[in-house]
Amino acid sequence: MLVTRHVLAASSAYATPYYIVRTMNPGPVIMITSGIHGNETASMAAAQKLADDCATGRRVIHRGTLIIVPRVNQQAYAKKIRGKPDLNRTFPRRSSGKAKHPLAAAVFQLARKHEADWWLDLHEANGLSQLSPRVLGQTLITNPGSSSVPICRSVIERMNRSISMRKHHFNLKRHELPGSARTAASKVLKAKSVTVETCWSLKRAVRIKYQTEIVHHFLREIGML
Ligand SMILES: [Zn+2]
Repeated sequence: MLVTRHVLAASSAYATPYYIVRTMNPGPVIMITSGIHGNETASMAAAQKLADDCATGRRVIHRGTLIIVPRVNQQAYAKKIRGKPDLNRTFPRRSSGKAKHPLAAAVFQLARKHEADWWLDLHEANGLSQLSPRVLGQTLITNPGSSSVPICRSVIERMNRSISMRKHHFNLKRHELPGSARTAASKVLKAKSVTVETCWSLKRAVRIKYQTEIVHHFLREIGML
């Protein structure tokens, strides 16, 4: 296993580090992004920790390739804001379309170049989906008809088995969101893409734990561990 550090959009004001974890064995390519919204800090911490743990050998990936961009929107992160414009509405909307923001273009090009089979986009949201169907906290979201659904269901089952507080349980949502990384990955790259949303009224340490565990379960289900 070899971990290399690179810089995305290197010669621009949007420069941000990313990591490639390469293994000796062929397998899927999985892209993990967080910080597309700059104020969703637990997801960024979980992604950075995954990259660090791979680099130090605390986490071992056996097959395939992992690409991690832990803090996509550095400018929004510096201000602890979601970001203006909302970067997650600027990804390509159709095969022939272009991203409407240079940072979204750079992230998307990275996934395209490496032919990502999977794209997990880590976020945080308001509310507990177990208490209201209208909120996104504690959900996995796919596009309607995504072939990622069976694996999402397995991941949710594993998560919910380990969460004693029922109102913290995760639910699956299917939703097309034009301009989002998830929908662009699915429609344009034909990747299996999932948005992970923890509820940010939970304690930060708990959110980081949930984000970390969800990614771990995906890696295991996809056969990379
Ligand atoms: Zn978000």
